[in-house]
Amino acid sequence: MKVLRVVCILCGLVTPGLALDREAFTFTNYDLDVRVEPEQQRLGVRGRITLRNDSSAPQKNAALQISSTLDWSSIQAGGEPLEFVTHEYSSDIDHTGALSEAIVTLPHEVAPKGTIELEIGYEGVIPLDVTRLKRIGVPDDKAKHTDWDQIGRSFTAVRGIGYVAWYPVAIESVDLSEGNTVFEALGRWKAREADADLKIKLTNSGESSAEPPRLFCNGRGGEQAYERMGRAYSVHTEYSFEPLGTTVPLFVIGGYDVVETPSLNISFLPGHKSGAENYALAAELAVPLVTEWFGAPGRKAETVELADPEAAPFDAESMLLTPLDTSNSTVYQLAAVHQLTHAAIFSPRPWIYEGLAHFAQALEREQQSGRPAALDFMGQHRTAIVNAEKAVDATRLQNTAANESLINTSIEEFDRSKAMYVWWMLRDMVSDAGLKKALAGYHPDQDKEAAYLQHLVEAQTHRDLEWFFDDWVYRDRGLPDFRVESVYPRPRVDGGSIVTVTIENLGDAGAEVPVILRMEDGEIIRRLEVRAKSKAAVRVDVATLPLEVVVNDGSVPESDLSNNVFKVPPPDAAK
Ligand SMILES: [Zn+2]
Repeated sequence: MKVLRVVCILCGLVTPGLALDREAFTFTNYDLDVRVEPEQQRLGVRGRITLRNDSSAPQKNAALQISSTLDWSSIQAGGEPLEFVTHEYSSDIDHTGALSEAIVTLPHEVAPKGTIELEIGYEGVIPLDVTRLKRIGVPDDKAKHTDWDQIGRSFTAVRGIGYVAWYPVAIESVDLSEGNTVFEALGRWKAREADADLKIKLTNSGESSAEPPRLFCNGRGGEQAYERMGRAYSVHTEYSFEPLGTTVPLFVIGGYDVVETPSLNISFLPGHKSGAENYALAAELAVPLVTEWFGAPGRKAETVELADPEAAPFDAESMLLTPLDTSNSTVYQLAAVHQLTHAAIFSPRPWIYEGLAHFAQALEREQQSGRPAALDFMGQHRTAIVNAEKAVDATRLQNTAANESLINTSIEEFDRSKAMYVWWMLRDMVSDAGLKKALAGYHPDQDKEAAYLQHLVEAQTHRDLEWFFDDWVYRDRGLPDFRVESVYPRPRVDGGSIVTVTIENLGDAGAEVPVILRMEDGEIIRRLEVRAKSKAAVRVDVATLPLEVVVNDGSVPESDLSNNVFKVPPPDAAK
């Protein structure tokens, strides 16, 4: 009956005809006192939040959502308790697939652009919970290694929005089974919250005779103060995110030890010192490459081990949460170069920030094992991009407003994998030296206009790159599809031949693509700019005729790779 009663109250609360607008308010400030008691798996929070009405209508009610295993205890304004009703609200932004939502009656209507400060309190437990993943058919075991967040007796790791709503949010219900809606909603939330400030005072208390555990959070701060009374201990620390940007705030608590290097700290759990040392070595090897391309890491990176050896690593910018028990040094090298790149170059634009960290991984592969290894590494992302483009195409038919350009997208396959290719293509077009100089001139606080980066890159080359940025960055034009249309050899009077190769691009995005002429005794590579839905030709002087001509060495992502090889018929066959 409880549900029914809540529904009735809800109907009464919200003026008939005026639906509750869950996303009317932006949470501009959080000041939270967070207490964690690992033995009880318990979280208790008291604090203040500021909401700003960013809708065009006055608001009398506000929705405040936290994970469904937490309960609201009090909501006040100016020291006066406010009326609120709570109910379970189904949504896959949380690992439990549901939220404890409080619908608060505000003391007065908040006008558009007006703000209100609320004093809040809530508590409960945060156990491991894989409900949302099981609901879409992810096997239990796999789900546990993905949604690994929990407050546990020996180990605690809790990520924020998109994993566990451990601080209040307000987002319309989304469902993982409905395409990309969860990522879109999270992208929308993060964009709105980018200027918000979040401060947390984190306290961990419990009983233990051992060394008190260490606390980690990906905000600024972290001085830890300990208190002990017999077996009882309490550890406090403070962190701030000013502003939050696109960070997912998280905290980790465990019995860590640390390996320190000049560029990063690696905190490891008992028995995993050798893994930490291997990671430290990989990181030190990656420092020169990162420095050469992106400048010296401006802040010390932090690597924190996850207790579950099969847990999916989590990239929290210059903090990385990862298992440390592999002996595979390639895994560590790729992770370390990514993490150090984040510590070296920041951008508020995910396609630049994440795209460069992925691009750095490809550069690392190239440095270790040559260009083919880098192209293989990028190739592992190609299918994901092709599938994401197909999915976008399908939704575009229903929703003409869908805009998944790199500057707007919240699709991970785009702002990571596709962006990585864009950086690689730019590098191939403007040279290493040119791109490094452009990146050295990049200042995140000046990146206000979409074309800022294009102008930085153009300043290093004498090329107009508007068409490239248009096809790949400002708009989502899908991928190119190259084919070799024809190969015409013409004998030269002084011996040898001139071969004219015509390439057609059937796709809607143009690119500069390598054209490879394979001879019996080697190959010649030329680069050719082929715009969307057009053809271009290149003439090559050769001593012996090519056996085949191939367009694209894999450095340009394309939708169809099956039509890229042209077998040149032997001269006799032409007669
Ligand atoms: Zn990253």
